Amino acid sequence: MSKILIVEDEESIAELEKDYLELSGFDVVIETDGSAGEERAMADDVDLVILDVMLPGTDGFEILKSIRRSREIPVIMVSAKKDDIDKIRGLGLGADDYVTKPFSPSELIARVKAHLTRYDRLRGAAAVRNDEIEIRGLKIDRTARRVYLNGEEKFFTNKEFDLLAFLAEHPNRVYTKEELFKNIWGLDSVGEIATVTVHVKKIREKIEDDSSRPRYIETIWGVGYRFKI
Ligand code: CA
Repeated sequence: MSKILIVEDEESIAELEKDYLELSGFDVVIETDGSAGEERAMADDVDLVILDVMLPGTDGFEILKSIRRSREIPVIMVSAKKDDIDKIRGLGLGADDYVTKPFSPSELIARVKAHLTRYDRLRGAAAVRNDEIEIRGLKIDRTARRVYLNGEEKFFTNKEFDLLAFLAEHPNRVYTKEELFKNIWGLDSVGEIATVTVHVKKIREKIEDDSSRPRYIETIWGVGYRFKI
């Protein structure tokens, strides 16, 4: 459920807006003082703000500026004076919409819904999931090239990361050191097969509690390695 913050010092107006919004299924909080409203607007659970311009404490312009410094949530400005609306537009403070008093509650609800829909779409687009592999507390984020063990980030060199990700992408499959070397370092690379052993050791130090009894990368004696699933 979306949470709407109404910052409005005229309580009858605030209550009217609240009633209509609640009838439409929104969760609503009211602040009648500008400074309290500013603070409340920064809370993570607020999804949209209906912001009056003339307020005791901090005025609507200042609150809008301060919201825009840290949050992208929709803000609908409300004022009795058309001049205020022109001023908000002129200053480019980043309001999403403007409503002059008196307004019809149903018009306000329609705008709230439209802005929340648009905002949810933007948020959804930004929240496209990273390409991750997660096995028994070990999370390998291939998009960000980061590794977490039980939520704690572990730092890997490029080759360590490539080797771990390669093995985890092909779980339960046994690879020889030669195969791993070719896959990670490339056919033409100059180097020694022992490099693979060294890298596996370093990876284990970062993700295994007990390297002699590994939970993730298993040694298959005489053959190579396998990522256990
Ligand atoms: Ca007012």
